[in-house]
Amino acid sequence: MSNNTIQSVRGMNDCLPDAAGIWQGFEAIVRDWLRRYGYREMRTPILEHTGLFKRAIGEVTDIVEKEMYTFVDELNGESLTLRPEGTASSVRAVIQHNLLYDGGKRLWYTGPMFRHERPQKGRYRQFHQVGVEALGFAGPDTDAELIVMCADLWKELGIAPTLQLNTLGDHASRQRHRQKLIAYYEAHADSLDEDAKRRLYSNPLRILDSKNPAMQALNDAAPKLMDELEDEALAHFDGVQALLRASGIAFEINPRLVRGLDYYNRTVFEWVTDQLGAQGTVCAGGRYDGLIEQLGGKPAPAAGFAMGIERLLALVEAGGRAIPAPVADAYVVHAGEAAQPFAWQVAAALRCAGLSAVLHCGGGSFKSQMKKADASGARYAVIIGDDEAAAQQVTLKPLRDTAEQTRVEVALAIDYLKRT
Ligand code: ATP
Ligand code: MG
Repeated sequence: MSNNTIQSVRGMNDCLPDAAGIWQGFEAIVRDWLRRYGYREMRTPILEHTGLFKRAIGEVTDIVEKEMYTFVDELNGESLTLRPEGTASSVRAVIQHNLLYDGGKRLWYTGPMFRHERPQKGRYRQFHQVGVEALGFAGPDTDAELIVMCADLWKELGIAPTLQLNTLGDHASRQRHRQKLIAYYEAHADSLDEDAKRRLYSNPLRILDSKNPAMQALNDAAPKLMDELEDEALAHFDGVQALLRASGIAFEINPRLVRGLDYYNRTVFEWVTDQLGAQGTVCAGGRYDGLIEQLGGKPAPAAGFAMGIERLLALVEAGGRAIPAPVADAYVVHAGEAAQPFAWQVAAALRCAGLSAVLHCGGGSFKSQMKKADASGARYAVIIGDDEAAAQQVTLKPLRDTAEQTRVEVALAIDYLKRT
């Protein structure tokens, strides 16, 4: 490669065909899983007004403070941002199109998200999420449904992350907790790191979310929100736990789980693994009853989660299980003057029957074409010479096992490929 070839942007990955096959397999599993739960897909733009994320996520958060790709549209002076997550856009669209006019909605989305973070394993600047939002439902049954459906997907993917659960309570208890936290951290001002000092008055709850090991002991001993919870929030949390127990879902209550985003209340949860090193959270979510109103909609409760596809696929791979990538059913090799037009007909007939057929292009001997057929990953080679063309037949050779090759009518070959 010469020095002036242009490379991809740091932290943004190409998904090459082998990987894309795995992603397609994953996406097919996810679509079917969501269909079975009655969730419907929604697609929103990748670019939004910067104000949306500032209002939804909160000004004093890692994302808004330092991770957003924000730029001014030079044509009209608007500040735009590449979406760093999907909930803000989903809620914006739901309000804009009045989707909750006739009751709650179960929605999901998938696609790229953008955050200007330091790239490392499991952390990229363009990464991908599948997100699920249950909007307009207030009860603990919805929170539990979201968690149970995750557990269902993990089973299907052959992975076993563990569930951490917490409640953030409601506004009044958070305010009380906030005052106690400020007093506590003020009393330990000498032990605070820079982030903590900056957040002390703007968002002290976020200090608890610190990844700095030096802050760990101080945070462990900090006043607990659990001690401030109002009865309704406690009853809601009990309701979630009861439904999880009834569904046989194991969980661990982690009082320090506060989530990086501002908009959560009551239930918060994370699915974590120790198999991926430092980037161990594969899915995170919870309830955010205030967000719809905060974004200008008619007040309505909401809950949801987002999972990181790169981390999930890494976890599937770490478990040694492969998501099957689609392969071609047939690679059609042909040599001879009469063979070529017949090969085109056969390939068309296979495709018409719903099979995938890669037609060899560029000529060459049978031997070199068979090498290409093998390397293509296709299940069968469909071999056509002038003999076959004259008899309107094909020779079918399995490429993935040692079974014998057979010469058959085209219709029979199609039947056979569909059955095996
Ligand atoms: P983290 O604590 O790892 O930074 P987060 O709290 O910022 O995660 P969320 O905003 O909750 O993450 O996003 C949901 C999920 O998206 C995460 O649990 C993770 O699986 C994935 N994710 C978040 N940021 C990245 C990233 N930069 N690269 C890859 N995956 C990511
Ligand atoms: Mg983050």
